Amino acid sequence: MRVRWITLMLICMLLPAACGRAPTAPSAEEADAPLTVLATTQQIADVVENVAGDAVELFTLLGPGIDPHTYVATESDISTFTDADVILYNGHHLEAQLERIFDQLAGEEGKTVVAVAEQLAETSLLSWEPEAGLPNDPHVWNDVRLWKDVVGVVGETLVAADPANAQTYQANAEVYTAELDALHQYILEQVEQIPQEQRVLVTAHDAFGYLGRAYGLAVEAVQGLSTATEAGTGDVQALAEIVAEREVPAIFIETTISPRTIEAVQAAVRAETGREVTIGGELYSDAMGDPGTPEGTYVGMMRHNIDTIVSALSAPITGADE
Ligand SMILES: [Zn+2]
Repeated sequence: MRVRWITLMLICMLLPAACGRAPTAPSAEEADAPLTVLATTQQIADVVENVAGDAVELFTLLGPGIDPHTYVATESDISTFTDADVILYNGHHLEAQLERIFDQLAGEEGKTVVAVAEQLAETSLLSWEPEAGLPNDPHVWNDVRLWKDVVGVVGETLVAADPANAQTYQANAEVYTAELDALHQYILEQVEQIPQEQRVLVTAHDAFGYLGRAYGLAVEAVQGLSTATEAGTGDVQALAEIVAEREVPAIFIETTISPRTIEAVQAAVRAETGREVTIGGELYSDAMGDPGTPEGTYVGMMRHNIDTIVSALSAPITGADE
């Protein structure tokens, strides 16, 4: 039975049009048990929630405030990975400590393992450190157009793994994609409110390159694309000089990173110029907010980030309420 089901999955991957509805029904047990899906980041889990709704059983590995760059799997994580029918992770070395495990599991019969950001067209990605074996910046969710493509990747993966629910997945993905179109438009309009010369986003680690490219913000960070190495005093000093020179009105802390780095930049600017650069608020860089809050969804998290950025960088001109 298991073999027939896997054969059916393969046929459906090759000929998705033939599988709007499964041609032969799986056993009652298999039909009743929902697909179990493990998503590493909250961002990916949010896509699964929007595309699958209640049709799958979803596990999210990394909760609010958890840094994916440095996260190491526990024993209970490993058993969740082993039990999941589908594992969806970001890839491009975002979950650097988990990749080896996922590579191993990808070879197992009956299991689907997909690095969603690695399915995007290479030409759409920003580069990282190709000479160090790290070709691409993994923080793709910060460009809503790229994240729409990830919705497509997740949809196709779920259809292939669970053809019986194909229509649900496809219809939901379509609705959610329209929501993301509206979000993309919203961010474009919000950034327009920041005076041109003040469109500089300064953060602790370099998670916002895609946001900068897509929406027209210069991006500067103390640390590189990963948080795996500590920021040095030289990095802090170099960034403080940029902040001083460009008269950047505000700099931002991140929910997954200690505020010390950005506070050190603030102190260095103070020492150099006497000016007090504002801490413009807290951004969700690599994790989202608490489940059940607006920031616990991808759309809400992106809106929070852009509203925080716009309010802090354009406060004197827009007359923000503080
Ligand atoms: Zn990051």
